[in-house]
Amino acid sequence: MLTAHEFLHRLPKMEMHLHLEGSIRPGTAADLAHQNNVKLPPHDRVEDLYHYNDLKEFLDIYTAVSDSVLSADDFRRITYEMLESCAANTARYVEFFFSPQVHFVHGVTFDTMIDGVIAGMDDAKADFGVDSRIIPGVNRELGPKAGEELLDMILARKEERLIGIGLDFLEAPFPPEPYADLFARARKAGLKVTAHAGESGPAAHIAGSIDALGVRRIDHGYHVVTDEALMRRCRDEGILFTCCPSTAAVTSPWTVLDAEHPIRRMADFGLKVTINSDDPPMFSTDLGEEYRKAHDLLGFSPDMLRRSILDGIEGSWLDDGEKRTLATAWAAEIDALIAEFQPIPSRLA
Ligand SMILES: [Zn+2]
Repeated sequence: MLTAHEFLHRLPKMEMHLHLEGSIRPGTAADLAHQNNVKLPPHDRVEDLYHYNDLKEFLDIYTAVSDSVLSADDFRRITYEMLESCAANTARYVEFFFSPQVHFVHGVTFDTMIDGVIAGMDDAKADFGVDSRIIPGVNRELGPKAGEELLDMILARKEERLIGIGLDFLEAPFPPEPYADLFARARKAGLKVTAHAGESGPAAHIAGSIDALGVRRIDHGYHVVTDEALMRRCRDEGILFTCCPSTAAVTSPWTVLDAEHPIRRMADFGLKVTINSDDPPMFSTDLGEEYRKAHDLLGFSPDMLRRSILDGIEGSWLDDGEKRTLATAWAAEIDALIAEFQPIPSRLA
């Protein structure tokens, strides 16, 4: 017999909504800030760095921490450590965001960033067996022209692990439609696309991301529950939602994680919902904790988690052959874990 938390820990996982800059460990942030002469917001102990009282304090910390990453080796270190944490939480495949435009202001070139990130990915693959892909996020606050320049750099790099682009940063005041041409060009060039939508912004941003940007995947998307016609459409079209319980309880209007939370309602409605960790150290969480919250607070059953993981494989950006291989192997592995966690007699009882 497995305990619930042993069962959750042993589930093979994907991580599809994780930000590189939001994954920097406090000790690493302190090291890099010291090395690169960046002043971090005042804090008594290193482990208190990510204690903040409001969104402004959080953004100050996020900016200062991002400002501390300058050299290729800095990028290698934060990528490696992020993937080490993923592996420790039994994630075996990771599609992660990073925010190149945050670093341009310090004169860091795109190639410097990617050289370091790729080195970190290679080292993590060798040491932990975790496979990963990069999703540069377009900062929607900076306008489409800046995004087009970023897309030029992504395409010029010709790195196949730069697998797609996302739309990111402050959502509510910045609807997706102005990014339609940029996303059309990215898709035409073979990049996959996704968008943060329906987190702090309305359901219309979800519909707009599907219609104007051509995404089949929505990051967060909780406001979908406010529009039943859109829910039906997303279900019929198989749109995948990458959800993050801990941050949803802070950055969306639904701050209580229980069986009434949109993440659970979305899953109950038949939407494809995956569990992810977003900015783990900044929200005192990790992927394992997000699975525990999904199970303990949102009430996801073992069968719901199984479906969620398999939906994640299907909605990932692996190629079709890799998806089939992974889905077959993981389904068998998860079935064996469910049988060990809930033996048949007790399931029938
Ligand atoms: Zn995010």
